[in-house]
Amino acid sequence: MLTGMLCTGFFIMIGGAAMAQSTHTNPWAPRDIDTLPPIASLSKGVWLKGDLHLHSNHSKDASNNPVSKIVAFSESVGMDYICITDHDNHVNGDPANNTWADPEFKSKSLLLLYGEEWTTTRGHGNVFSARPYDHQRLYDVRDQRDVVVGAVKKELGIHLSANHPSGKDHFGYSYDMVESIEVWNSAVWPKNANAIMIWDDMLSSGRKLTGRGGSDSHHGTPDTPDKATKNSGQAKANYIGTPTTWVFATARTKQAVVDALTNGRVCVSANPYAPRVEFYADLNEDGKMDMMMGDNAKSTGKPVKFRVQLTGNTVADSSYTVSIVKNGNPYSTIKMTGKKPMVEFTDTPALHGRSFYRVTVEGPQTAYPEVPLSMALSGNMVGLSNPIYFNFDPNF
Ligand SMILES: [Zn+2]
Ligand SMILES: [Zn+2]
Repeated sequence: MLTGMLCTGFFIMIGGAAMAQSTHTNPWAPRDIDTLPPIASLSKGVWLKGDLHLHSNHSKDASNNPVSKIVAFSESVGMDYICITDHDNHVNGDPANNTWADPEFKSKSLLLLYGEEWTTTRGHGNVFSARPYDHQRLYDVRDQRDVVVGAVKKELGIHLSANHPSGKDHFGYSYDMVESIEVWNSAVWPKNANAIMIWDDMLSSGRKLTGRGGSDSHHGTPDTPDKATKNSGQAKANYIGTPTTWVFATARTKQAVVDALTNGRVCVSANPYAPRVEFYADLNEDGKMDMMMGDNAKSTGKPVKFRVQLTGNTVADSSYTVSIVKNGNPYSTIKMTGKKPMVEFTDTPALHGRSFYRVTVEGPQTAYPEVPLSMALSGNMVGLSNPIYFNFDPNF
């Protein structure tokens, strides 16, 4: 009866059935962490909004969208930063087709990040950098194994982000190489369901991965002639800020924007005028918030009070629905109303093992008159937070 493979361990008989009682211990199993770095200050910072996925005419699949138009439009709708992410155009020494060398690549008020959409056979990823970097080197290794790509990425000191992670051109590399993931691509919110699922899976496996948005707009909406674009419907509905990514940065600098992105102090809103979702936690029930999204604390086994608030242009006399996700699963929903909608809930993160909480907010769309068609495509989706983490390994 005891046939087949015998490995370490021994057999005991229960009710006639053989059961292996293994002596194996998994050296990689999640273990309790000793201490965590102190949580960054909640009072020293500034909320900055922007778009992290934009194509100018330097991308071959774009139209009617010169850099000057992107900059002027972004300034007019109050953006604080943008990253123009054209398709690999800083490669093969082609200065004529180079976004950063374009004389129009300048702004008095906008922080212009340096980025590219790394466009490869295994999918797309965006680079975000506070300073110019050698994109050619990342391009050269695009077909190499991840261990090679990861080493080059590390040397370049860049933030790499997985773009539109589900479907054609999904990010087909290891998520261990990226700091963030595009969980909200374009105004078409419903198509992001699989991206959210992948994000929750990565979070649940211990990866502290920032969720961010990106309009991926290619055309100079809304005045692009229909015939100029292959997909006129989306071209008209999708432009800068659909969606808008907010970062809580320690200063109004390019590096602080990239750092906030890396640290997950980030939320995403349907458009530049929509309210932002703020998500905090009070660890010791003293009524003072100690953490915000992106922060990671050691669980004490005691209850934590969480606060969700909508800040900005809420629609008057409206009700918003907050959906709480705990450890990748639906946890509860709460309604909130009022001029400054805010709700609190209490839960006890497990003393041992990882926990994370994140929220999405649904309700009426705040108007975006410059791109009015975007509103219908976003449906009821108003905004989403990044997670608040407990017992995540900071070295992972
Ligand atoms: Zn892409
Ligand atoms: Zn793109």
